[in-house]
Amino acid sequence: MVAKGKAPIVEKSDTVAARLLRWYDAHARKLPWRMMPREKLADPYHVWLSEIMLQQTTVAAVKPYFAKFIARWPSVETLSQANDADVMAAWAGLGYYARARNLLKCARVVAGDLDGTFPGNETDLRKLPGIGPYTAAAIAAIAFGQRAVVVDANVERVVSRLFAIDTPLPASRPHIREKTDAITPDARAGDFAQAMMDLGAGLCAVRDPACALCPLQHDCMAFAAGTPAAFPVKAPKKAKPLRAGTVFGVIRENKIWLVRRKDTGMLAGMRALPSDNWSARRSGNGADSSEAPLHGPWEIVPKAVHHTFTHFSLTLDLAVYQGKDFEMLPSAGEWWALDNIADAGLPTLFAKAVKAYEKYQKARQ
Ligand code: SF4
Repeated sequence: MVAKGKAPIVEKSDTVAARLLRWYDAHARKLPWRMMPREKLADPYHVWLSEIMLQQTTVAAVKPYFAKFIARWPSVETLSQANDADVMAAWAGLGYYARARNLLKCARVVAGDLDGTFPGNETDLRKLPGIGPYTAAAIAAIAFGQRAVVVDANVERVVSRLFAIDTPLPASRPHIREKTDAITPDARAGDFAQAMMDLGAGLCAVRDPACALCPLQHDCMAFAAGTPAAFPVKAPKKAKPLRAGTVFGVIRENKIWLVRRKDTGMLAGMRALPSDNWSARRSGNGADSSEAPLHGPWEIVPKAVHHTFTHFSLTLDLAVYQGKDFEMLPSAGEWWALDNIADAGLPTLFAKAVKAYEKYQKARQ
């Protein structure tokens, strides 16, 4: 860890940064990966791990995963030695699994090539697997005290409102970055970034921002115009394509048949239930699919499972095996006790399917 040193708070007390930092000193959120204002800088391993987990994921969802990872792999070296399947299973439920694969790749580069030390600047951080411009800036500022311009979705909202930026996202991003750069102080850049995140996550909420309590009320053009909720302006969302498929439940004596997904494609390498290829044009009874692990007979459970990925929405029919030819199952797979299914590390989609099977079975008893 690096000491924050004796940097001045900010040179001028009438800047946006000064007002925000004074507010942050009194109101910073306590988060497990964070040091409080004016303490020493946070551990780069903690900052990196939390920032990767927080991509597209809420603080509340991340907290238990962060605690689990830190308890099991307390340093980048220990994480680098973990086996892939254990890390994927520990990540199960957080989604966006490419993050977990890159997490492991990055840990191995840092532990193997960099003596376990994260680089302290944005340029070198960006060379690491899974670290893009935002994450590099956040680590450089928060863990190393470097001046960096950190813009996440919360900061985008605050800055759009402060400057009443009316160009729709995502076209407005360069302008938002430029404005964030203009208000980022030289000293305490990490605290400033976290203060902006906290303001966006709390007072400057998406709906009904609490402007009366905001330390930047007098700087805020959207507040002055009486239209904070109109920002950020967003381009209309395109409807997500719909896909459909079938998942195959083979259940015997309170155990369910699980497989490992291919090493490429969606949910690569994850433990899962057998399923077809989620083709958008599937028609008729998906249990007839040549991808079913057994010939049948199959019954379709009345309630399908729905799940939304970044680029498409998926509806999976649930087929449940009604035969007894269990010895015909392919060799690649394993029986897993339903009572311990939480330990299988299934992605959320398949965990939902297992729950639906269990509910269906109970209803039939
Ligand atoms: Fe957000 Fe309101 Fe503060 Fe403006 S005054 S930054 S809209 S909370």
